[in-house]
Amino acid sequence: MQKNDEIELEIIGMGSEGEGIGRYEGMALFVKGAIVGDRIVGGITKLKKTYGYARLIKILEPSKDRVEPPCPYSKRCGGCQLQPMSYEAQLNYKQQKVREDLLRLGEISQERFDKGEIEFFRTLGMENPSSYRNKGQYPVGTDREGHIVSGFYAGHTHTIIDSERCMIQHELADRMMAGVRLYMERVGLSAYDEEAAAAGRRDAGLVRHVLTRIGFVTHEVMVCVVINGKELKEAGILKEILDSEIEKYNKSMSSDAEPYKLTSLSYNINTDNTNVIMGKRIVTVFGSEYITDHIGDVRFRISPLSFYQVNPVQTVRLYGKALEFAELKGGETVWDLYCGIGTISLFMAGKAGRVYGVEIVPEAIADAKENAKLNKITNAEFFVGAAEEVLPAKYAQNPQMKADVIVVDPPRKGCDASLIDCMIKLAPQKIVYVSCDPATLSRDVALLEKGGYRLKKVQPVDMFPFSGHVESVCLLSKKS
Ligand code: SAH
Repeated sequence: MQKNDEIELEIIGMGSEGEGIGRYEGMALFVKGAIVGDRIVGGITKLKKTYGYARLIKILEPSKDRVEPPCPYSKRCGGCQLQPMSYEAQLNYKQQKVREDLLRLGEISQERFDKGEIEFFRTLGMENPSSYRNKGQYPVGTDREGHIVSGFYAGHTHTIIDSERCMIQHELADRMMAGVRLYMERVGLSAYDEEAAAAGRRDAGLVRHVLTRIGFVTHEVMVCVVINGKELKEAGILKEILDSEIEKYNKSMSSDAEPYKLTSLSYNINTDNTNVIMGKRIVTVFGSEYITDHIGDVRFRISPLSFYQVNPVQTVRLYGKALEFAELKGGETVWDLYCGIGTISLFMAGKAGRVYGVEIVPEAIADAKENAKLNKITNAEFFVGAAEEVLPAKYAQNPQMKADVIVVDPPRKGCDASLIDCMIKLAPQKIVYVSCDPATLSRDVALLEKGGYRLKKVQPVDMFPFSGHVESVCLLSKKS
């Protein structure tokens, strides 16, 4: 087998990015756009020692789960890898993925699932899995003819596919992006050119990205333009254009709906030659630096630099499950590790005795403290630092410290082994693990089980319909 060979493949699995996997001459081959159950012809594009990549040339026999992708950009876009799969099948696939990882990497036996010793729930899906994102992050560039383009990156490259509408994005966010383009054209602003910047050229252009955030409950709108420069000139024109776009959008809605309003317009300075989207400095042009929104009864202030769950409809259900699994009676001490802007902490504070949040990004902790005040919550306290440093330090200071429930919601790399050790020493009755990566979740579950915990409940939640990403909440209880 070599590059450009055309081979027949049976797709028997799915990779972590949602690509189809087939086997040929002992090699695993990853094929974007192919799904489990397809029989295809693939063209080899790249070969490594034990695996490779192939391009989908022809579908010989479609999977029973195959559908016409709902988005016209799906073949070229780097996001939404599960577009060719029916939504029902996506939910099944995600549940299956969590189960397989727990069996293989979590060292959980099938018997414990079969006997019902571990309750394994069906993936909680969305009723209407479109326009679900509250956050947009649009790359901006220039095409060969010199026109401004914006939209999304093609898979595994930084080629920008020009697009006006993304089906998982709030429609108003797409319109905000269009408004920024109009402003750029009117004022004569250039788009950033990565290659020119990499070559050290001074004419690398100005506008790099546009970040939008929309409060699904409050209807507050944030637009932040990321620039390779010091200033966004004639920003008043941008404000006018955005306001008029929002007004048009409001008119298209039913008259009793709460109108949307631009409450935060800013720019972010990023002059580094880097893939990191946001720089450190934000200059507010209009309104405040943040918007507010609600999750359930709790109100949150959200800054451009803070992490905030992107799917508000499913976030309520995710946190609801975490709260249900924690079974709080009212007097408990809860630690919320990797707390971001304090979302889970404050969501649980009303049902607990005390809540402590730990988060590594200082701006997020500033938001968390502000959010506690905003909601008149007085039993929550927040600490800046790495969870694997803060928790052991607190424990060393006071070995009698209390923790009835520990919630963790780490990034994809999961928890540091030293944090797991510390949690085991602290011995809370319950650990609620919220995870965006079933593989690291499973690795950590294995460690916690060795440390005296038992996996009791697993609930996958579909936070990112059409993407290969799988979120889940697990309950682990201390063995009595
Ligand atoms: N629970 C929050 C945030 C989850 S995202 C919510 O649901 O909104 C994961 C968070 O972990 C991010 O805010 C990230 O900044 C933070 N983080 C990453 N590494 C960390 C570490 N070692 N210690 C503490 N927080 C960390």
